[in-house]
Amino acid sequence: MLNIALFGPPGAGKGTQSEFLISKYDLFYISTGDLLRKELTNKTKLGLEAQDIIASGGLVPDEIIVQIIENTITGHPESSGFLFDGFPRTYIQAYILEGLMLKLHTSLDCLISLTVPEEVSVERLTKRGQVSARVDDNEAVIRNRLKEYYDKTIPVLQYYKDKGILYEIDGTADIEKVKLEIQRVIKNVLSKKLFNLVLFGYPGSGRSSQGKALAEKFGLEFVTTGEMLHREIENQSGTGKKIEELYAQSLFVPDEIVVQLIEKKLENSKEARGFIFKGFPRTLVQSYILDGLFKKYNSSISMVIEFEVPTLELIQRLDQRSHTNKCKPYDISASKIIQRINLHEKKTLPVIERYDQLHSVTKINGVGSFEEVFNRLSSEVEKGIKHIR
Ligand code: AMP
Repeated sequence: MLNIALFGPPGAGKGTQSEFLISKYDLFYISTGDLLRKELTNKTKLGLEAQDIIASGGLVPDEIIVQIIENTITGHPESSGFLFDGFPRTYIQAYILEGLMLKLHTSLDCLISLTVPEEVSVERLTKRGQVSARVDDNEAVIRNRLKEYYDKTIPVLQYYKDKGILYEIDGTADIEKVKLEIQRVIKNVLSKKLFNLVLFGYPGSGRSSQGKALAEKFGLEFVTTGEMLHREIENQSGTGKKIEELYAQSLFVPDEIVVQLIEKKLENSKEARGFIFKGFPRTLVQSYILDGLFKKYNSSISMVIEFEVPTLELIQRLDQRSHTNKCKPYDISASKIIQRINLHEKKTLPVIERYDQLHSVTKINGVGSFEEVFNRLSSEVEKGIKHIR
């Protein structure tokens, strides 16, 4: 998801620039001013409450804004991103936006502020007033709208400056130049955006080999908890010995151990363009942990993929593997293999279901040669990366 807020005094050119942003980045446009005017036209309760305030150029109370904006945002969870125009307009609304984005498991990527001096705003709006049907485009009201902007809206800038996502652009330049500047900012923002993929599938479905190759192809970090744990065993660390015992009983490794290893990996991968997770999250609890970890790194899940392979083929693959030197301590007997499959069904399928509701899970047919499956996987991931960048 790409979420942008366009900021600036009335008449800065937010509406004009929104038009190209919506189509170029496939964003859902939310202008609180437009939403309020619609409420006014439809003479709804909210519209009637806001009517006099809008006509005088004041700011509508946050309670009203929350109601109109929440309906719009939560009504479009499938959208590939939002473009906010005229919101957040107060410091409180910045917090409100934070909460709303959290609800959608996403966050604001940048606030682009178009700067124009007060007199330019007045001149532009007075001109617009000659052709627009807006009740608030006359000089007295324009002055009041600007006063509200400098008193109540300007402090919002500090909020986003502190978060490191404020970008200022000279809004007095001609429309094409401003457009190019905005594009440059967004390109920069997108290049910093991590692409995070979570891979699911039954044991033996090919997640490891495919995930590793995928990470190499797209320059992503492969986070495979199984291998991390295996390395601990190889090193015969205290943790490694504990893990070995758990494996012998086909039990999950405690979350504390796994989380520490993942945190270390994230901490050591500051330059990464994104991550591919395999083998984590395995339980609902771990899926909440991953939400928390991403939040800490100001990131989120970009895509979830599940490999589909018929059960009989899975058992065949795992049995074959157990006769090779790739045999893992947990696939040495049929009963262990079945236990792992059972565990996947009981603990991990609910996670996939949760993700399906939140992000919509992409299913990949995992049957066929390595190349065939890899091509299917790559083309989906390519689409996913395009979607976020
Ligand atoms: P705009 O179309 O963004 O210039 O907004 C027109 C008018 O709607 C403003 O002058 C305010 O009265 C009201 N309004 C729009 N957005 C907000 C907001 N986020 N908070 C409070 N009032 C708003």
